[in-house]
Amino acid sequence: MDRKAPAQRPTPAAPGCAECVRLDNQRRAAELDGDLSRAVDCRVLLRRHRAAAHPGGEQ
Ligand SMILES: [Zn+2]
Repeated sequence: MDRKAPAQRPTPAAPGCAECVRLDNQRRAAELDGDLSRAVDCRVLLRRHRAAAHPGGEQ
């Protein structure tokens, strides 16, 4: 049951950034709830935040 999907790996949180951690926790909680649309929302928010706050990170 090892689901490794390199093509769709989640955006990693930047270490030490509270906003990244917050959004990542929200995404994880949504996934655990089975609320995939909310998880996708969180992923989009996280990516947008990272693009704005951590430019130059891997994308
Ligand atoms: Zn961040």
